[in-house]
Amino acid sequence: MTADTKRFEAYDVLGDGISFVRLINTMGSDVEIVNGARVSFGKRREALDEKDKVLIQYLADERHTSPFEHVAFTFHVKCPLFVTRQWHRHRTWSYNEISRRYTSVNMEFYVPKAYRQQAETNRQASTDELVSQTKDGKSIQEVITTHTEEAFALFENLLENGVAREQARMVLPQNMYTEMYATVNLHNLIHFIELRIHAGAQWEIQQYALKLLDLAEEAAPFAVQAIRKARNW
Ligand SMILES: Cc1cc2nc3c(=O)[nH]c(=O)nc-3n(C[C@H](O)[C@H](O)[C@H](O)COP(=O)(O)OP(=O)(O)OC[C@H]3O[C@@H](n4cnc5c(N)ncnc54)[C@H](O)[C@@H]3O)c2cc1C
Repeated sequence: MTADTKRFEAYDVLGDGISFVRLINTMGSDVEIVNGARVSFGKRREALDEKDKVLIQYLADERHTSPFEHVAFTFHVKCPLFVTRQWHRHRTWSYNEISRRYTSVNMEFYVPKAYRQQAETNRQASTDELVSQTKDGKSIQEVITTHTEEAFALFENLLENGVAREQARMVLPQNMYTEMYATVNLHNLIHFIELRIHAGAQWEIQQYALKLLDLAEEAAPFAVQAIRKARNW
């Protein structure tokens, strides 16, 4: 596979064949980090040498972050609404998202195959222990599928009865998928990844953060490897 076809490949993130993240565009690469860091010396480099690699590792180790801002990415993301809500708390990104006031086509829903149990110590976290059935013996996956289908049927019914999309959408559940373009520089991307691959972050957004790290490595391999080494990722 060539670098160009790989760039636009959509990677399944949540393993359901619907979620994805793809790298749409990049600005800069490893060498721009070095050029930014060495601007005072008045020399521009076109390729990395061994000294440059040492410099990038030093910048990563010392959290000398601003040179990493000269590399930027645009991602196309398809994720459930509840993931977007967490993602959009990161104010240093630029976003455009599908408006459900504008269109009601291609509506899809995230129905996981596995359900994590509530953590007892951390009130906003889950454990690795799974639960598959309700106390009265129903499959949790089926219960959620039924609820999702009923909510979607109600939405369609409201539209058929003349209710505007902007109001009808309020009956749709948070497991509905949305799509966005999201642009960020490498420094702020790493900040996002650090917060969102943490064990305390929700599993679903952890999966997106891990995939973003892999995609960033395609555009700025040495910088991302240096950061992985510095952060022990
Ligand atoms: C595990 C986890 C649990 C969370 N739980 C909750 C929760 O229960 N409720 C909730 O509301 N949020 C929650 N959050 C969101 C969290 O509080 C942050 O809003 C989110 O992680 C974005 O982080 P950030 O502000 O550092 O990132 P960005 O918005 O990308 O900002 C990056 C950095 O820029 C600076 N910055 C950006 N904007 C400003 C500003 N206006 N003023 C000052 N400095 C600024 C800060 O230094 C900031 O760290 C949670 C986050 C995580 C990772």
